[in-house]
Amino acid sequence: MSTPLCPTCGGSMKQRKSAKGDFWGCQAFPGCRGTRPIAGTSSTPPSKPVAPAQATIPTMPPGPSAPSRTDHMAADLRRAAELLTTVVEILTAHRAEIEALQVLADHDTSF
Ligand SMILES: [Zn+2]
Repeated sequence: MSTPLCPTCGGSMKQRKSAKGDFWGCQAFPGCRGTRPIAGTSSTPPSKPVAPAQATIPTMPPGPSAPSRTDHMAADLRRAAELLTTVVEILTAHRAEIEALQVLADHDTSF
């Protein structure tokens, strides 16, 4: 920890102890009575008013695609369903050929 400078006289400070806890006291004490609280220690005197920690979470603005997202998804699903129907129709129409191809494929892999 770096030694802070006295807020009163600008001189260097020394860590001192008090009943409230540790603090920085001016090296020129008692000629100068400048003090500083030691930040980051549990023994910091509770003289500093604690401001309410207002968490400022930046709200993400909704993207331009947000409102039409469900519509887009519904359209995609409808298209997928149509494609599936087409695929099923093709598979059903060419079932014999596909089964024949599968037989050939089985033969190829076992080769
Ligand atoms: Zn001082």
